[in-house]
Amino acid sequence: MKVKTLLDLFIHDLSDVYSAEKQITRALPKLIRAATDEKLKAAFQQHLDETQGQIERLDQVIDAHDELRLLRMKCHALEGLVEEAQELIEATEAGPVRDAGLIGAAQKVEHYEIATYGTLIALAIKLQLGEAANLLAATLEEEKSTDKKLTSIAEKQ
Ligand code: FE
Ligand code: FE
Ligand code: FE
Repeated sequence: MKVKTLLDLFIHDLSDVYSAEKQITRALPKLIRAATDEKLKAAFQQHLDETQGQIERLDQVIDAHDELRLLRMKCHALEGLVEEAQELIEATEAGPVRDAGLIGAAQKVEHYEIATYGTLIALAIKLQLGEAANLLAATLEEEKSTDKKLTSIAEKQ
């Protein structure tokens, strides 16, 4: 698709993050199985539930504004990050070292999402898509608090 306007760019990035969230719902169950620490497993499970809600929120963003529709596209960055997490799992045995690696892998995903949602919110405000901006801001807060929670789990290890 040719991206010519800020609205095109918003739709492009929204479709990319939709693909990212879908990939995350498939990856988190693998991280839950690979993790040992119960708090880490619980944090991943909680974020899996949140991620399902975030996909619903993206559907609400689309429904809120007539000019929005989703493009079929794949987030290649997430594909790469998931592949790296998979390699880490294969390179480690279950235990604290793998758990530390899983936290790092998950935080790379959260930081990607934080950057992406930050851009989307700025574009939504610029495009005067207020409902979209509010919905996306709610998701951004969940990504930030997940990132903080992972840091605190890592510090207690
Ligand atoms: Fe997310
Ligand atoms: Fe992407
Ligand atoms: Fe997330």
